[in-house]
Amino acid sequence: MTSTTARPAELTGRIVRPGDTDYPTASAGYNLLFTHDPTVIVFAQETQDVVNALTWARQNDTPVRVRSGRHCLEGWSNVDNGIVIDVSEMKSATIDTASSTATVGAGLNQLEAVTELGKAGFAAPTGTEGTVGLVGATLGGGFGLLTRNFGMASDNLIAAEVVVASNVDGATAIIADEKNNSDLLWALRGAGNGNFGIVTSLTYKIHPLTQTIYVTATWPGLHDLRGVFEAWQRSAPHTDNRLTSQLEIHADEIVLLGALGAGSETEATQMLAPILSVGDPDVSTVNASWADIYAGFQIPMPQEAANWKFFSQFVSDPFPVEAISVVGSFMSKAPTPDCNYMTNAFGGAVKGSEPSGGSAFAHRNALFYAEPGAGWGTRGGIPATADPLTAKCQAWIAEFSQALEPYVNGAYVNVPNAGMADWETAYWGPNVDRLRTIKAKYDPNAVFSFEQSIPPLHDRGR
Ligand SMILES: Cc1cc2nc3c(=O)[nH]c(=O)nc-3n(C[C@H](O)[C@H](O)[C@H](O)COP(=O)(O)OP(=O)(O)OC[C@H]3O[C@@H](n4cnc5c(N)ncnc54)[C@H](O)[C@@H]3O)c2cc1C
Repeated sequence: MTSTTARPAELTGRIVRPGDTDYPTASAGYNLLFTHDPTVIVFAQETQDVVNALTWARQNDTPVRVRSGRHCLEGWSNVDNGIVIDVSEMKSATIDTASSTATVGAGLNQLEAVTELGKAGFAAPTGTEGTVGLVGATLGGGFGLLTRNFGMASDNLIAAEVVVASNVDGATAIIADEKNNSDLLWALRGAGNGNFGIVTSLTYKIHPLTQTIYVTATWPGLHDLRGVFEAWQRSAPHTDNRLTSQLEIHADEIVLLGALGAGSETEATQMLAPILSVGDPDVSTVNASWADIYAGFQIPMPQEAANWKFFSQFVSDPFPVEAISVVGSFMSKAPTPDCNYMTNAFGGAVKGSEPSGGSAFAHRNALFYAEPGAGWGTRGGIPATADPLTAKCQAWIAEFSQALEPYVNGAYVNVPNAGMADWETAYWGPNVDRLRTIKAKYDPNAVFSFEQSIPPLHDRGR
């Protein structure tokens, strides 16, 4: 077992402090809307570095944040005057094709994970953005274009190594799997982001997949929105499990994206026929490996908007016409071209397959996930605080998401709704009390604490 005995603890790994030339790069997150000035950033190279960093933080009474891919949309994986324990340089992958499992270091991003698995002829479900940390996506759920086929990323998590706070001011690495600390494994499947400990490696169930059909269809303008949305929400969550699709609605076009795992182009277009038969979309298909398709749809980070604000919403009943009109009306007056409304079909394996031992993920019965999103500013351009678009985009997105509230239920912890009144129930529904009990067991002193961290059960007043 890796644990600390040395007192006082010393920081190990790659250490970056204010004044170091790489400090600005080391402290910046993906969403430039938020900036922080931590006292120190530790880029752990091995589990002992994480143990040492957590012990040091406790001995020095310093706030802790855990970070991997830096995509936390509210900037909560960083903190002023605290320590950031960053696992992104812990990159490793061991794939066991015989048992269909893979153990990866917590530093892999999603593109790296998809690529490594692809080389072995396997896949696991992840989100769609390659630079998102695999660990950050998995611990909150993790959905994308293989979701209906293989479930949430968290459904495929079968074990993790986790550094937890121990004793008065120490830290230790433990295993969470079906036999050891199985309550923690349950919690990590959907509620693990920065709440219980620092995950240093993850073991997944993986799936043989060598060929995928990727379909894109584009309708110019928004005049087909009602027909496309209606056809999509009635068919996409109920079609063949091998097919997952998304809608991306922009101010000037509607885009359908779909992935059919192990199938033909004819099958894919037949399954999507109810949607593709609306209007006259421009349709294209690609037949390739999942890893190649995934790499192919990535957008280089410098081309992405600098600032983002999303609201996450789950939908369990089909949108009535009024809700689709709300989407059309807000999108037609979107303040920038990077603003969009995105949906991802659920059903399929998410609905059908609770992993053995269960999971904290609470939206198994959703019809689809939906997300009004605002993006603005250019990377390297003026900061968000000086950009007049900041207030405009924030007002637009707040009104947009509020207008949809009568039609949605639940929110997604990986796309946090900051300021939401009852965020715990929105994220985890009936699982909140069990999560608070598990928090009290593994982190009774709330060493892992941030704006929406789970309070231990004994701390109900918070
Ligand atoms: C552009 C974009 C696209 C996205 N697309 C999707 C999508 O298609 N599907 C989807 O499901 N989600 C999507 N997301 C949401 C994404 O899953 C979350 O933002 C995710 O939590 C980011 O993980 P990260 O490691 O990159 O971020 P970080 O900022 O490093 O961490 C995110 C959270 O996880 C915690 N954390 C990080 N590492 C660890 C660790 N080792 N142990 C414990 N806790 C840790 C952090 O403390 C923080 O709370 C998207 C986000 C963005 C910004």
